Amino acid sequence: MFDFEVSAEMQALLGRYRDFMDREVHALEASAAGRSFSSLEPELAKVRDRARAERLFAPQVPKEHGGLGLSFREHALVSEVLGRSPVGHYVMNCQAPDAGNMEILHLFGTAEQKARYLSPLARGEIRSCFSMTEPENAGSNPTWLSTQAVRDGDSYVIDGHKWFTTSADGATFAVVMAVTQPDAPPYARASMILVPTDTPGFEHVRKISIMGHQGSGWASHSEIRYRACRVPVQNRLGDEGAGFMIAQERLGPGRIHHCMRWMGICERAFELMCQYAAKREVAPGKPLGTRQMVQDFIAESRAEIDAAKLLIHHAAWKIDKQGQYEARNEVSAIKFYAANVLQRVLDRAIQVHGGLGVTDDTPLAAWWVHERAARIYDGPDEVHKSALARRILKQHGLVVKAEG
Ligand SMILES: Cc1cc2nc3c(=O)[nH]c(=O)nc-3n(C[C@H](O)[C@H](O)[C@H](O)COP(=O)(O)OP(=O)(O)OC[C@H]3O[C@@H](n4cnc5c(N)ncnc54)[C@H](O)[C@@H]3O)c2cc1C
Repeated sequence: MFDFEVSAEMQALLGRYRDFMDREVHALEASAAGRSFSSLEPELAKVRDRARAERLFAPQVPKEHGGLGLSFREHALVSEVLGRSPVGHYVMNCQAPDAGNMEILHLFGTAEQKARYLSPLARGEIRSCFSMTEPENAGSNPTWLSTQAVRDGDSYVIDGHKWFTTSADGATFAVVMAVTQPDAPPYARASMILVPTDTPGFEHVRKISIMGHQGSGWASHSEIRYRACRVPVQNRLGDEGAGFMIAQERLGPGRIHHCMRWMGICERAFELMCQYAAKREVAPGKPLGTRQMVQDFIAESRAEIDAAKLLIHHAAWKIDKQGQYEARNEVSAIKFYAANVLQRVLDRAIQVHGGLGVTDDTPLAAWWVHERAARIYDGPDEVHKSALARRILKQHGLVVKAEG
């Protein structure tokens, strides 16, 4: 039974988020088009201050750390509103990868780690990154890591090579996934270690250019070398060898957050497509929306967005009610389903806009460039489909092991 009612209190909160987005964030878009994230940061800092003043900041952060303490389902609703702008989540301090790092620090951090890393992160004073994927090994096989953290007295000495460490440029610390127990079973080999980015041996190699854009600051993805990078043993998050268990805690909610953000993008793209179809005439007195192929785009998009949203809300509801483990099928399904809906809706919206669709005069082109990766990060489509199908087949008596 799905329980999708939204309380009056939550409706009011969503109204305040919508109002703030219209007033403070969408208003910035015209002047932000084509500019780097770093050049926008001072303006965004002022908008963040106003979000703090209006008590909208950090919606997903527990109240004890200064946030609103929303449940997954509530945060999913807010995320859709914020997703309508490329910087909505950043403004509210619920952007990846910081949101996931806050989550694991809250769940697994020591009092000292919370004071040093979580508190300033939750206040939006610093940024962080998550450093797991390696160029030499397939990221879709998370147990295949070469980065090692070797115990030396009261320290770990980390050596390794990572890439796609999103937001490393300007981050204060990285959460590094490194092998600490090479002889343990595959899922017990790695630990998560907090590495301040000013630690000697933390080498920022480059910002990786993505489809022609190198990006900057929070909106960038870096290659990092860890060369004899020494940090105290107290910087380990959770138990030794618990890295994968913690990664699962981080990825389930993280996927819901991404999916709902994508629904915000879909709704905005859909709205832009409909507005343009209603006004752009292809012949005198004949707007695009009179053409059946465009009507097909609109109808298919509406149905697909609604279907994706129902699946996502159900997954968020299940996490709230039954926990992440019970919701893993739902989370796998929404990850690939919603990412593909996003891609199709964006493609149709661009097509309806014609040449305008590929310019930076609307947010569509930037989303097209930056959100193609949705079908790859946090598990490529194929990995989620395979995991879901194997779990379903198991219920029918067929045990299929993950291909290794
Ligand atoms: C924009 C972006 C941001 C990212 N941010 C981060 C970050 O902050 N931190 C971090 O650590 N990593 C990050 N990543 C890395 C991301 O998690 C990996 O790209 C992802 O896990 C896939 O790993 P890979 O790129 O090594 O692809 P591979 O593992 O080499 O896979 C390549 C392709 O093979 C196919 N494939 C893989 N497995 C199977 C299978 N079982 N069956 C069929 N086909 C399969 C899929 O199509 C996949 O896309 C980011 C990636 C991108 C693109």
